[in-house]
Amino acid sequence: MLVVTDLVKRYGTVQALDGFTLNVAAGEIVGLVGHNGAGKTTFVEIVSDLIRPDSGHVTIDGKPPSATRGQVGVAPQHIALYPSVTVREHLELFGRLAGLRPAALSAAIDDLAGILRLSEIMDRRTGKLSGGQQRRTQAATALVHRPALLLLDEPTAGADLETRQAMLDVVKQRAGEGAAVVYTTHYLPELTELQATIAVAQNGRVIARGTYEDLAKDLPGEVRVTLEDEEEISVSTTQPTATLIELLGRLDRPISSVDVRHPSLDDLYRSLAVHDAC
Ligand code: ATP
Repeated sequence: MLVVTDLVKRYGTVQALDGFTLNVAAGEIVGLVGHNGAGKTTFVEIVSDLIRPDSGHVTIDGKPPSATRGQVGVAPQHIALYPSVTVREHLELFGRLAGLRPAALSAAIDDLAGILRLSEIMDRRTGKLSGGQQRRTQAATALVHRPALLLLDEPTAGADLETRQAMLDVVKQRAGEGAAVVYTTHYLPELTELQATIAVAQNGRVIARGTYEDLAKDLPGEVRVTLEDEEEISVSTTQPTATLIELLGRLDRPISSVDVRHPSLDDLYRSLAVHDAC
């Protein structure tokens, strides 16, 4: 659905993208992760036709970004709402711009109000909303016209648990209906909940792509068992669950707590950075 090949983008001496390649299928959620400055937002801006690459190609359903605006929904990283305009007016505006007819628009707004928990703030001006409420409103403007491609750039940055859950629910719903989704984040648990495949960006390109299980299978996690006498046993292992079971079978003293740490995104970045440098 989305085919991105070899994007290059330079800002003066900064190489923001350096051969960025990524394909996303219909119904697939790709979690795009990477350190600050890896090029994620630049990629999102090019696909949403806000900026042009120096070279490389993007097609959305076979067409260039300039010909597909109604098919793409974008929630930018930084809140971009009109402060004196209400939530409902935003959704009506974005829906009409995408060509929705009144009945379809009204049904779409009702649906989003439910899943993104907007009903109680629908007639409030966005400038007076909390950060999380603004995030949910911004996501709704990207979703109201049911785009075939969704680009969500850190949609849960600074969000509370309710907003985070609402965002995950709506992303799962839309991918289930066939939308291709690119979801940038710094939170690995969100991607496991979304059952997303992962693309790791570094220095302007995607250096690893696959499921979390594939990418993390050789990375050690940690099993930590604390005994009632306060002795702590800590084991680094690529198979935390099996190691924990084996450890518990061997211990004959009372245990006060058990902690299993699976590999994190930082562990993944570190291992890839080492491989990339080789
Ligand atoms: P973050 O996780 O912090 O959002 P990112 O992966 O989205 O980072 P980008 O915002 O795409 O990274 O930035 C990639 C590089 O390009 C960075 O070095 C950034 O400083 C630079 N850059 C991005 N936009 C501009 C711009 N408009 N002018 C100059 N440099 C820019």
